[in-house]
Amino acid sequence: MTIHYPWESAPEFAKPLQVAEGILWFRVPLPMPLDHVNVYVLEDNDGWTVVDTGLATTKTKEMWQKIFSGPLFGKKIKRLIVTHHHPDHVGLAGWFQKEYNASLWMTRTAWLMARMLCLDEQKTPPAETLEFWTRAGMRLDILEERKKEKPFNFADAVSALPLGFRRIVDNEEFEIGNRVWKVRIGNGHAPEHATLWSTSDQIVLAGDQIISSISPNLGVYATEPDANPVREWIDTCHKLSQFASDDHLALSGHKLPFKGLKFRLQQMVENHEHALERLINFLEKPHTAEECFSVLFGKSIRNSEYGLALVESVAHVNYLFLEGTVSRVIDRAGAFKYQSL
Ligand SMILES: [Zn+2]
Repeated sequence: MTIHYPWESAPEFAKPLQVAEGILWFRVPLPMPLDHVNVYVLEDNDGWTVVDTGLATTKTKEMWQKIFSGPLFGKKIKRLIVTHHHPDHVGLAGWFQKEYNASLWMTRTAWLMARMLCLDEQKTPPAETLEFWTRAGMRLDILEERKKEKPFNFADAVSALPLGFRRIVDNEEFEIGNRVWKVRIGNGHAPEHATLWSTSDQIVLAGDQIISSISPNLGVYATEPDANPVREWIDTCHKLSQFASDDHLALSGHKLPFKGLKFRLQQMVENHEHALERLINFLEKPHTAEECFSVLFGKSIRNSEYGLALVESVAHVNYLFLEGTVSRVIDRAGAFKYQSL
């Protein structure tokens, strides 16, 4: 079994593509190298349930208004389910709540993360972030530049979240239209990431937990510098694998919907395990997380990808450090140097 794509290409932005009875797939744009996010709309007798939103930009709002007055015309937006707290998914949740009176359903950690980060606006990078970058071995010219710049603030891309949401929990089941959906929670890409599994047929709303042709970013951030998302990620792949079959249709947050879910879960685990093996060899000699880019990614990293590459690199060395495979010491520049034991 490999991966099979039932649709060779994605619908145009804001145009619906029915992927199953009662499930519409839309794309909305993102202003970054990964230029889109997939959102899904589920039909119920008395309204629509939207899954994920895109970023809070004027362009995305206009796109949604077009969708509401076109393909979704005639029924209200009664519920919004957000898979995880990242801006490309939760971006317009507050707007859906305020403008459309939609009820917001999320895991508790995802909602708390989103709301906390929205309130945490910074003019310059805080000391903890500078220390995190230094420890990761960020290149000095980039560090000097970033020190002076206004950092990315969550609130730049996410509309304010009003108080109140409906919590979803692991293994919970609820009905939408003629399907029953079971919540399964994963970690690694984002804490308490929700995936929804139809128990009525073989469909999974996978968010960014499982994507077909790219590996979801596993990052460590200054908020939790000793986190071990790679461990959590691998554990989640094993957990979800028990329920997955290759006949499942996976509807992901990016790229194309696909079949071959069980295969893909296994493949993603193997990709990370191979990366960890390459790292152990490379760390025979001491290196910083930043110096591991070439071994981890096998390509040169563009400036636009530098931040994501750095958090992913720290995630992998953290895994080895926390599993006791490598040691770390702080060098004269303040960076952690990791070395295989
Ligand atoms: Zn995403």
